[in-house]
Formats: sequence, C-alpha cells, structure tokens
Amino acid sequence: MKKVYIETMGCQMNKSDTERMLGMLSYMGYEETKEPEQADLLIVNTCSIRQLSEDKAFSQLGVWGKWKHEKADFKPLKIGIAGCVAQQKAESIFKRAPYVDFVLGTHKIYALPEIIERINKGEKVCECTETNATEDNLAKNYDIKRVKGVNAWIPITEGCNNFCTYCIVPYTRGRERSRLPELIIKEAKDALNTGFKEITLLGQNVDSYGKDFKDRNYRLADLLRELNAIDGKFRIRFVTSYPTDITDELIKTVVELDKVCEYFHIPMQSGSSEVLKAMNRRYDRQTYAKIVQKVRDMVPDVTITSDFIAGFPGETEEQFQETLTAIDEFELDYSNLAAYSPREKTVAARWTDKFIPEDIKDERFQRLNKKVQENCLKSNLKYVGREMEVLIENFYEHKGKMINTGKTRNFKTVHIPCDKDLTGEFVNVKITGAKTWYLQGEIK
Ligand code: SF4
Repeated sequence: MKKVYIETMGCQMNKSDTERMLGMLSYMGYEETKEPEQADLLIVNTCSIRQLSEDKAFSQLGVWGKWKHEKADFKPLKIGIAGCVAQQKAESIFKRAPYVDFVLGTHKIYALPEIIERINKGEKVCECTETNATEDNLAKNYDIKRVKGVNAWIPITEGCNNFCTYCIVPYTRGRERSRLPELIIKEAKDALNTGFKEITLLGQNVDSYGKDFKDRNYRLADLLRELNAIDGKFRIRFVTSYPTDITDELIKTVVELDKVCEYFHIPMQSGSSEVLKAMNRRYDRQTYAKIVQKVRDMVPDVTITSDFIAGFPGETEEQFQETLTAIDEFELDYSNLAAYSPREKTVAARWTDKFIPEDIKDERFQRLNKKVQENCLKSNLKYVGREMEVLIENFYEHKGKMINTGKTRNFKTVHIPCDKDLTGEFVNVKITGAKTWYLQGEIK
C-alpha cells in the first residue's frame, strides 16, 4: 500500500477536511502514516488566518521539496498543498514551490481522487475553482475516515457571508452553504456506531444553519432535536455562534435537550462599539451584553467563551481598555486571543496608515492574556466542591502518576488521577481544586 502523510494546520474545519481527504485516499489504496519520511504522498492542509501559519506552510513545503529532490532516484515523492492558502494563492504556488504536484482549494476537496490519478500520470494540477455546492452532492461515495477518538467533528455549514473586515474566511471558504440534515445525521450515527461519544457540529456560523435552504424550513434547533433523538449516551456541541444569530428558540432547545451541552462559543472580537463597527461586526457592546446575559439567564451553569483581537487598525488605548472591561463585565469564562495580522484581500489590510505598531500590539496581547487567565481561574473556582459528569478523553502519565483528563458538559477540562484508562467513559467526579486552565477532581 502507498502511504500518505497529511500535516494539518489551523482550525477544526481543516481537521475535518483532512479526515475527508484520508477517507477518499483510503479508497485509492493509500494508508495514513504519522511518519512523513515514510510517505509516498505528502499533503499540507493549510490555514491562512495569520501570516505566521502561511509562512509555516511554505517552510514545510520547502523541507519536503528537498526530500523530493534527494529521493528522486529511488522513491518518487508527490507533494500537495490543500486548504485556505491553496485556495487563495492557487497556481502562483507552482512558481514559489515548483516541486509541488497539486494545489487543492477548499471548495473542491472532493476532486482529490481525480487529482491523484492525474499527478500520478505526471501532470501538475491546480483545482481551486469556487463552487456554490457543498461536498454532499459530489462526494457521496467516499466515507469519512475518522481519526479514532471520543469527539467527532461534523461540519454543518461551509463558508461565511459576513465579511468582517479583518477576516480571510469568506475569500477562502466562499459563501455560506448548509449541508443536508440527512447526511449530517447519517455521519453522526456512523461516528456513534464506531464508538465516538461526542458530536461537535462545526461551522463558521453554526447558528445560521439552514438559512440558505430553498426547499425546507429547517434550522440548527431542528437538527439538534433530530440528533438528540438518536439512541445511546452521548453529547452534542456546536461551534461557532455569531452573536446576533443566536435565537431564543436555539437557547430554549439547548436547555430542553438532554444531550446538548451547556456551552456557547460567542466571539466578541472587541469590547469597543467603534472598533466593532470598523470590523463590520453586526452588533455593538450593548447588544453583545444582552445576548450573553440572556444565555446566562436561560442556561444554568453555561460556559461562554469568546475570541478577541488585540491591536485592530486604529484601536486606541481607551478602546482596548473596553475589551479588558468586557471580559470582566460579561464574565467570559475563557477567550481565544490573537494580535491583529493583516490578510491580503481583506478591507482592513488596506488601512496601513492605521496599523498599530508591533510592540504595542504585543503589549496589548499580553495584557489581554493576563485578563483571560484571571477570569478563567475565577470561572473554574466556582466549581470546586461540586459533583460533575466528565467524559474522559485522554489517559497519560504525568510525574509518575497516571492521569485521566476529560471535559464536563460545560466544557471545563478536568484532571483526575486514576490508574485505570477510562477514555471514552462518562464518570462522576468530585471537583477538588481549580487551576487557571483546568479543574482537579476525584472519581466518586
Ligand atoms: S463571521 Fe467574520 S470572523 Fe467569522 S468567519 Fe465570517 S467573516 Fe470571518
């Protein structure tokens, strides 16, 4: 069997695309290897959200290009680039990295089998055409090859229509389109039948799922209800929520359905209404506050996490301070942080006269990080003394002790010393302590 190695960068959407690519390749006689040196086919599945990730992708290709040259006489290597950088740079990649055999954009991953046939005949192939289709209509014959584990990630929407001024996603993943519910439900059932215990529904804006259906009135709440009705003990999560797309019906559904977890990821991006406007986000500070409050009031023990950008073009110190106060005021349990990085094609990348100097961006990022850490610990401390259900995800040795780690329903990580590997099991745990990034517990 030929061997394929895929290096996956970036978000869960990319990880999910990698699973799909591995599924298609297994039908073509390729077996996955974790050792790139062993592979006959090397693919980097790229992320272009920040310049750093893009640079990393090209440096990875550079290493493989050398291998290809060195091994040319005894093992013909094929090299491909997929994902967001591929979608964005398309054919120009052949100039920068001439040893690359194929460039595969995000819209056409289902074209991979045909591409492999063509490169094996010696062609160089670039497939980055935008389509308005989802892969559902086109790749039905290829099962997904899931990485064995506890949590199965299932994309439910692809693309985004929001065009936030800093974001490359609408240019790399195209307009928003929803996958058919029947195929999502089949995928969920297959994953559960093979031992997965948690389903996470994925999308840039999961809560606008179904808005584009012409032939049915079917939204995220409907999908959650159908998934919840599948037999067996498992959990359901969904990410990411665009703040103003969270409806009362969706919140009520989360409360009502026993398998849907008490967790919302609601990116705010900035605590300043002026900056939010410049970012082309469709809410201001007050609107975000109301949404978060509503979720907190309606969903007991809910964890709410967010994303923030430090040093957006033109952000003043006062506006940055508003982000710090937002994290406190809205009691955000955890936030992902990024320093602003200009991305080609986006509107904000043209505002070079407003760019914040690197040292100030870094300093704001550090202050934001400190604030997130404080709040994370504060949020974790609330659970000390409580009994919580934990789904075990990992088992490993740490300083001579065996540890099981897992997640509560509300997405808190718990470390539990225990000699038995409980991966995939639901256990009741007494929370005995809280650290910044996790809880400590013991099995009841
Ligand atoms: S909502 Fe904004 S930040 Fe999120 S993917 Fe769409 S354009 Fe990007």
